[in-house]
Formats: sequence, C-alpha cells, structure tokens
Amino acid sequence: MFETLKEQPADKILQLMQMYREDPREQKIDLGVGVYKDASGNTPVMRAIKAAEKTLWETETTKSYTGLAGDPGFADAMVSLVLGDSVPRDCVSAAATPGGTGAVRQGFDLVKMANPKAKVWVSDPTWPNHLSILKHMGMEFTPYRYFDSATRGVDFVHMIADLTAVMPGDVVLLHGCCHNPTGANLTQAQWKAVIELLLDKEAVPMIDIAYQGFGDGLDEDAIGVRMVAEKMPEVIIAASCSKNFGIYRERTGLLMTVSKDRSRSKLNQGTLNYLNRQNYSFPPDHGARLVTMVLTTPELRADWAAELEEVRNSMLGLRQQLADELKRLTNSDRFDFIAQHRGMFSRLGASPEQVETLRRDHGIYMVGDSRLNIAGLNKTTVPLLAEAIVKSGV
Ligand code: PMP
Repeated sequence: MFETLKEQPADKILQLMQMYREDPREQKIDLGVGVYKDASGNTPVMRAIKAAEKTLWETETTKSYTGLAGDPGFADAMVSLVLGDSVPRDCVSAAATPGGTGAVRQGFDLVKMANPKAKVWVSDPTWPNHLSILKHMGMEFTPYRYFDSATRGVDFVHMIADLTAVMPGDVVLLHGCCHNPTGANLTQAQWKAVIELLLDKEAVPMIDIAYQGFGDGLDEDAIGVRMVAEKMPEVIIAASCSKNFGIYRERTGLLMTVSKDRSRSKLNQGTLNYLNRQNYSFPPDHGARLVTMVLTTPELRADWAAELEEVRNSMLGLRQQLADELKRLTNSDRFDFIAQHRGMFSRLGASPEQVETLRRDHGIYMVGDSRLNIAGLNKTTVPLLAEAIVKSGV
C-alpha cells in the first residue's frame, strides 16, 4: 500500500531553518520562521505562564479527560479576550483545538459540513497553511487580491472588486490583525466596507486571529473581528494562543462560531464537539489551562499584558529603526511601509533573486516571497540588514 504514496512538498520555512543552521558564517540573521524572539534571539516562556505553570503543578489533582470542547472556563476567557462585549455570550459556541491551526482546520471542516458547495475566498497572499489545508481537504478556494506590491499596503480597490463575485453561502477568510505574510492590515473604514459587502452578498466571514496583542494592542487588534461579530449574522473565528501567550508547542487554540439566532448556539456547540470527537476526541488541555489561569487571575493577567506590551513595543521599535536606517541610506521614504506594517511580519517586496542574494552574500535568511520576521532582528542587526537590502538592489 505504501508504495502508492508520493513525496510531499517540503515546508519551505523549515527548509530555510535547516539551511540557516548549517550556515557556518558567524554573521548570519534568521528572519524566517514565525516565532517571537527577544534581543538575544531567545523565545522566552512568559513570566505569567511560568507562574501559572508552577501553581498548576502544585494544585492539579487529575489528568483525567476534559469535556469534548475542552475546559469551559478557557472558552469563556478566550471568547471575552477576542470578542469583548461585541456579542452576547450565548450567541457564541466554542471548542478548544490543538493550536490555531487546529481551529482553522476544524473551521474548514465545519464549512464543509454546513455547505459542501461553499467556496472559500482567501487573500492573495495568505498564510501558506490555509491553502495547503484547503487543498488537502479537497475544498474549493479562490484568491482575492489583497496586497499592493507598489505601496506595500492593502490593495483595497481590487480586494473589493474581487469580493464582488462572492456567492451567497461562500466563506471569506480574513486575518483578524497582523496579516501574515504581508504585515498590511485593513483600517476600520475598510473593515466596515468589507462587512457591508459580505452582508449584501450573504457570505460568511471566517476570521483567523493568531497575533492579538502583537499589532496595536490587545483591544485594538480585535477591533475588526468585533465589528464583524457585531454586524454579521454568522461568523466563524479561529484564534491561536501560540504567539500572544508564547506557548507554541502546547498547541492551544479555540474555534468559535457566532450565530445571532441564539436558538442555533446549542446545535453549533454540538457540531463543534462532534468535530473534536471525530478528529482527536479531547483537545489538549495544559496550554488552555495556563491561558485560563492567566486571564482569570488579576495579577497574572496584568503581568502578562505588560510583558506582551514589551514584546509589541520592541517590534515597533525595530520597525521604526529599520525604516529610519533605510531612509538615511536611500535618501527616500520608500521603506516607510516597514514602520506602518503591524505584527511580526513585513513583506519587503524583494524579488526571489534579491532574496537569494541576501542569503548568499549577506547571510540573511527570509522566506522566498520576501517576508521578514521583524522579531528576528535586534538593534545591532538592523543596520546590517538595511545595508544589505540596499546593496542587493531592493
Ligand atoms: N494563522 C496564522 C495566520 C498564523 O500565522 C499561524 C501561525 N503561524 C496560525 C494561524 C496558527 O498557529 P498555531 O497553530 O501555532 O497556533
């Protein structure tokens, strides 16, 4: 049987990490993989998470199964973090999932169950896993234009033009904040226009929010998703705790549905439970429990929010430093977009050849589409990157 299996395409980012590790040069910079790194290149365990972990170790009395949807306290805490008071809690159904990827995957599964004919509209570009999961599941999808490679901002005119072809019941996948891979995000006015269009087309928004707190702040980054939840009759939301709680390997995420028709919430909840049951029974609990403890213990929550602010501000500082350095070297404002982008990533707009030159001649590793992880930089490496960018003719 196994002889029929074909080689699967290698993950480009993981390949890049391997090349970086094997590069003997002392001066090399890894701007590839999407994890937060501090100035020394470490991905620390957040203070509040460490404290919660200690308490959990001391107080946890059983490792028996949780409910199919995970700990209800986790769902409550996360629904409130993501949706604020934009919708009454009883309109929301939620189930814990293994990471944001699990929530995305289950969200697509839900779409397939509810409307097998639905086409999923995805931004061009988007997180490559969106596409590979959709392909793997045999679901139909269509890209909508999103990024303007001249301004490196959102190509809103073409985004709206493409979404005009959306059919009733189609699903439009949007990034809640900190768009991956571009760093270019919708303004509030643009969210409003998208909502009006989707209402008009009777389409269903699905929002992937994986970086809440990495852009403009915890509440600010949730403005779009909250506007959508408030206005649309139905919404699917996939949230990840990997980045903002720094618990990548614990695999902690939440899939939510919003139904303005409250009588549907029970059925939606049953469906989310069913999906968990079919795919892996019970979701992982350790990370979810830590998140719940952090969000519901005032001192831990305050400390977590403060540390997240430090992380966010350090990335904003690096963005500004890089934009300033490039302004000085090129005597132009063409790289100002780096300071305007939000989140961990920016799409530089370099050609694949220039990306290769940066790697070969300067030991700078970024993904082939010129996505750079701002958190891979520090104050010392920013000037080196700026110089290399200019030398490579970007
Ligand atoms: N969505 C997007 C857009 C992401 O960038 C990521 C992380 N790379 C995820 C979802 C899911 O992350 P995880 O499964 O690690 O929680």
